[in-house]
Amino acid sequence: MKLYGNIKSERAEKGQGGNDFLEIEITNDKRQEIALIKIVPGEKIKVTIEIDKDLAELEIGRDSICKCTDPLCAKCLLVNCKDPNCKVHPENKKMEFRKLYKNR
Ligand SMILES: [Zn+2]
Ligand SMILES: [Zn+2]
Repeated sequence: MKLYGNIKSERAEKGQGGNDFLEIEITNDKRQEIALIKIVPGEKIKVTIEIDKDLAELEIGRDSICKCTDPLCAKCLLVNCKDPNCKVHPENKKMEFRKLYKNR
């Protein structure tokens, strides 16, 4: 199967080639729309993903986002936290904890 990406949003007329928002349509070789991604800037950029549930499965890398709020959580410090940018469990704290654990 081949996939095609088509940017549907028009270029901003006054801007220098940038877009006010992005709308990207992904289709397959049968011209079926598989997914539509909308990206709208703002105070916080809003990303909307719509998929055709018969053709696609939405998978967002939520496993890599740590939701734990306990900075001393042993589970997270040892294995669970896979987010390298985690503010609750920074990389150096994880390294420290893993070292301690090994030497116990
Ligand atoms: Zn935790
Ligand atoms: Zn974490």
